[in-house]
Amino acid sequence: MPLTIIVVGAGLAGLSTALALAQNGQSESKHIPNLFRIFEQSSFSNEVGAAIHVPPNATRLLRRWRLPLDTLEGVKCTRLRIWNDKEKYLSTPVTTAEIQVKTGKPDDWLLVHRVDLHNILRKAVQNDPATEFLLASKVISVDYEKGSILLADGSRHEADLVIGADGIHVRSPYQIESRHRAYIHNGTELLSFFDSHIQCSGQSRHSRFYEERGHRWARSFSSNDRRMVIYPCRNGELLNVVAIHPATESSDVGKSYWLTTGSIEELQHVYRDFGPHLRELCAIAEDLKLWELSSRAPPPTFVKGKLVLVGDAAHPTLPHQGQGAAQGFEDAAALATLLDGNTMPEDIPARLQLYNSIRYPGALTVMFMSMVHEEKRDSLMEKLRQFVPRAEYPESMFEYSWPSDPQHDGIHALQSIA
Ligand SMILES: Cc1cc2nc3c(=O)[nH]c(=O)nc-3n(C[C@H](O)[C@H](O)[C@H](O)COP(=O)(O)OP(=O)(O)OC[C@H]3O[C@@H](n4cnc5c(N)ncnc54)[C@H](O)[C@@H]3O)c2cc1C
Repeated sequence: MPLTIIVVGAGLAGLSTALALAQNGQSESKHIPNLFRIFEQSSFSNEVGAAIHVPPNATRLLRRWRLPLDTLEGVKCTRLRIWNDKEKYLSTPVTTAEIQVKTGKPDDWLLVHRVDLHNILRKAVQNDPATEFLLASKVISVDYEKGSILLADGSRHEADLVIGADGIHVRSPYQIESRHRAYIHNGTELLSFFDSHIQCSGQSRHSRFYEERGHRWARSFSSNDRRMVIYPCRNGELLNVVAIHPATESSDVGKSYWLTTGSIEELQHVYRDFGPHLRELCAIAEDLKLWELSSRAPPPTFVKGKLVLVGDAAHPTLPHQGQGAAQGFEDAAALATLLDGNTMPEDIPARLQLYNSIRYPGALTVMFMSMVHEEKRDSLMEKLRQFVPRAEYPESMFEYSWPSDPQHDGIHALQSIA
């Protein structure tokens, strides 16, 4: 009989953890009441989001979980290219092929729309008859000793294990520290928008980006304190533009994730000194979303009693390295490997400690290295070492994160205690 499991939150981390666990034996592909339940506060009626990078450490896992990545119409990213704010080309710091050769791992770097990725994960999880998917079910507290949750409707539910996957605006990590972990604002905010003009009419005014629409690379245009990162998704027919600048530059900062709407006037004002094609792109921006880039101090551990944290609930990761979702997938792979179908309830404490030792140092390293732009990363090593004393500075984040394979780490950890 598999373990009874509750997952709090059906974002990318919660869904992938549910899928990986089900595929690794924590599901008997038939309905047994209360075996495997996912509680999600929203009803997913109006899903929004930007395009995201799915780096090779993530595509490797998504393919192992047999997700139909081809249906995402993702763009295989071949390189990152850097320009200055006046549109002068400077360098190509990374090509996918070069890292693939260096690390000996052939996996793709994909650019996809977050909603498309979420949809295929959700479909895969919902297809498992053993999983109960409970939408509009807000969890208001978690009891890590009992393995129980309390819902806003007053009902209480219990399981052998509770997986906290409720993201940065969370309940479950409070149980680990018994205190509120304050937001850390890093003084920048981020506007993201789609250039759907290309998709709608094919008659773009900003000819430079229109002509390049079939290209398969991410581009970054930077001045001293602000930058625009542009990359395609959906077969190259949609351009996603991410604009990162000091928070003081704009007025309407919201903490809401994916939902706060930005304004074109604000965008044009902040990027008024950028080159003409970039300014033109700002003028026709559609579907603007505004985020204040904030994180939280990490918890001292990802596990306590019957509670384990995955994804942003464990390590809220900013988008500078394009690794936040990927780290959630890595959590899912590690946890599912350690909690296979033969795991008994009495095995859980030791398995969760293995999970923590596999995931905590690496996930926190990526989290801290993602708090600032690439060139300022070393300034965060001291803070990182307060949590991971033996952390070493990753010279290249691509070479650090792309070869990571927590499924293999989990298998080795199990062999070491066998
Ligand atoms: C602008 C931007 C760009 C990004 N770009 C990239 C990128 O290129 N590559 C990358 O890998 N990452 C990127 N990230 C980061 C990535 O999106 C996140 O790290 C990832 O989505 C976190 O997933 P999650 O499932 O842990 O959390 P979330 O996506 O926040 O999901 C949490 C879920 O829990 C639910 N929930 C919350 N509280 C409760 C509750 N009390 N009860 C029940 N349910 C609850 C929420 O409704 C939600 O569905 C980006 C982030 C931003 C903001």
